[in-house]
Amino acid sequence: MSTPAAGTLFVVAAPSGAGKSTLVNALLEREPAISLSISHTTRPPRPGEEYGRHYYFVERAEFEREVAEGIFLEHAEVHGNLYGTSRTTVDGLLAQSRDVLLEIDWQGARQIRAAKPDCVSVFILPPSRPELERRLRGRGSDAPEVIERRLHNSREEIAHAHEFDYIVVNDRFEDALDDLQAIVHAVRLRSPLQWARHPALIDALLAP
Ligand code: GDP
Ligand code: ADP
Ligand code: 5GP
Repeated sequence: MSTPAAGTLFVVAAPSGAGKSTLVNALLEREPAISLSISHTTRPPRPGEEYGRHYYFVERAEFEREVAEGIFLEHAEVHGNLYGTSRTTVDGLLAQSRDVLLEIDWQGARQIRAAKPDCVSVFILPPSRPELERRLRGRGSDAPEVIERRLHNSREEIAHAHEFDYIVVNDRFEDALDDLQAIVHAVRLRSPLQWARHPALIDALLAP
């Protein structure tokens, strides 16, 4: 178990197009105390994506060298590209009592659960297959063959949803956002955290 002073590590996964990044960005506006971990990836940037804000975009050779150096807390191949989470960034933030959120795939989530058993994991489901396809195409950020591949891979991602602590269905956006925020609030109300947060209150209430 981590000490109560350590931050909470949240892991969010979803099939591509379910609305994960949009939901996470809206959650971070409501909960600015949560830090988003910026992943490294070999995927080329989409129009509008910036180095260091959306991802650290790197060449495959550099990524493989970083894997060998052990800089990743987890890494995985997703839709033909490599993605990884920096170990020092995450551990540094958690040590400063920051809550940290990872947007990663199910393979990465498995590695995080093994390395950090106290993590809290959430899977986002789309309300239907046609709606997933509509969102992926409507986003307009990927080439048609990339969209096909992501749709094809969505089954495998979804088949792992039961491994997560929570499942949120992203039908009405505001409802899904409220659900996600409710999970964050419930985690922060867990008794070890609350006990550590209110020592004066506990002392006063227990005083003879
Ligand atoms: P989108 O999130 O589906 O719009 O597309 P991305 O290209 O941003 O991400 C592709 C996949 O890689 C998704 O399943 C992400 O959750 C996953 N992913 C992103 N960053 C990481 C990471 O650092 N580690 C792992 N394991 N997966 C990641
Ligand atoms: P992901 O990060 O899971 O790949 P995105 O956050 O990029 O997905 O969302 C995919 C598309 O679906 C975006 O265009 C986004 O605006 C849209 N979207 C997200 N949630 C909803 C929702 N509840 N209803 C309708 N459209 C949505
Ligand atoms: P995209 O290329 O659309 O940004 O992301 C595609 C998928 O890669 C998403 O499902 C996303 O969660 C996953 N992904 C992004 N970053 C990471 C990461 O650091 N590690 C892992 N394992 N998956 C990631």
